[in-house]
Amino acid sequence: MANNKDNHGRHGGMDSCSFCGRSAMDVGMLFSGMNGATICDECISRGYDVLQEQNTSRHNKAGKNQPALKQSDLMKPQEIKDFLDRYVIGQDAAKKSLAVAVYNHYKRLLAADAKRSAAANKKPSPNSESAIVDDVEIEKSNIIMVGETGTGKTLLARTIARLLKVPFTIVDATVLTEAGYVGEDVESILSRLLQVADYNVEQAERGIVFIDEVDKIARKSDNPSITRDVSGEGVQQALLKILEGTTVNVPPQGGRKHPEQKFVQVNTSNILFICGGAFDGIEKKISQRLNTRVVGYNQGAVQHLDKKNLMQYITPQDLRSFGLIPELVGRVPVLTYLQPLDKTILRQILTEPKNSIIRQYTKLFELDGVKISFEDEVLDYIVDKAVEFKLGARGLRSICEAIVTDAMFELPSAGVKEFTVTVDYARPRVDKMHVQ
Ligand code: ADP
Repeated sequence: MANNKDNHGRHGGMDSCSFCGRSAMDVGMLFSGMNGATICDECISRGYDVLQEQNTSRHNKAGKNQPALKQSDLMKPQEIKDFLDRYVIGQDAAKKSLAVAVYNHYKRLLAADAKRSAAANKKPSPNSESAIVDDVEIEKSNIIMVGETGTGKTLLARTIARLLKVPFTIVDATVLTEAGYVGEDVESILSRLLQVADYNVEQAERGIVFIDEVDKIARKSDNPSITRDVSGEGVQQALLKILEGTTVNVPPQGGRKHPEQKFVQVNTSNILFICGGAFDGIEKKISQRLNTRVVGYNQGAVQHLDKKNLMQYITPQDLRSFGLIPELVGRVPVLTYLQPLDKTILRQILTEPKNSIIRQYTKLFELDGVKISFEDEVLDYIVDKAVEFKLGARGLRSICEAIVTDAMFELPSAGVKEFTVTVDYARPRVDKMHVQ
């Protein structure tokens, strides 16, 4: 398979991604490179996210050097949600939780600033600010988002990041290991935040971190990884300390800690953590819990369950059954979920968001002076294929890419001004994708 001629497409057998270790059966596509190395579509897309995020942080540097937050910086939860609506379809529950959490995060920061300046002025004046300079300490509410892969968790986090006036970074829990194992120490999360904050510790200490794939560090006896901590529990313990709010010695360059390295001290009490994970199979745990309830009591309520979407009934208890340690579950009090994407939503995702895939292709062709249009039937066909390939929203792009690649190659030099994509045009190109 390493010598696969066209270097793309899905492969059968026992092939697996050299980065995340998942087998060809579990990923959308597996690309092969030199010497038998392979990489799956998800690792590519994650790498892309990291690059995007670094670009954004570069662009946002001016913003990072802002001194304190102002009351006027505070967007109301409804405004935050309205902004998310422009880019993310559906997922109202997650949007609301995120909007409130981010809003509260800002309020906490404002309160902390007010407290500091009051302390500096010693005699706080009894003005309107005093309401937030009293003794009530607002605790932070870290968030956990649970939802199948490709339902928009990262997209939500990335969209939120566009709004923020605080440093923001996305990290992947799968690369984290307990100290002493191959991989990155948990402190590297904070290294990333420091980098994004331009090494301004004070700014980093008020940032937001999205920890993706947090389900992969769940305690699991059948964890397929042999290169990482087998139980995941050690990583959870290490993560717990950071989430709780403590002062951490952070290696500024990330990666592994070395004894001779100089550390930067970062206090995590005001850093907001948003965790995300697919938690594959958690619906079974939810259903088991609900069924137990049926046997026990409360039969009436259970009868009205929406069995097709059990995720909406998720509770912290289910996270524990899945393998997160109770202390960690306790540290992410805001639990929200993302719904699986059905055909209607996939169809909307294709065309509706501000930067929807179809709009992106239209723009690309427009730059070549070509007016491209997609027949309605072909949009339905793309959605059907994405469902068939079980690639969720992530599959929409690869299917579209397969359909328009020839046109992108040929049209710029063909002098064509208009081009319509039909199902007849799309079908043979999608068939060539070799997706099982
Ligand atoms: P997750 O983090 O849940 O695995 P992502 O946020 O990375 O999924 O989604 C993958 C891609 O699918 C996104 O880049 C986006 O184009 C698309 N997508 C997924 N869910 C939605 C949604 N609800 N609205 C719009 N686009 C979505």
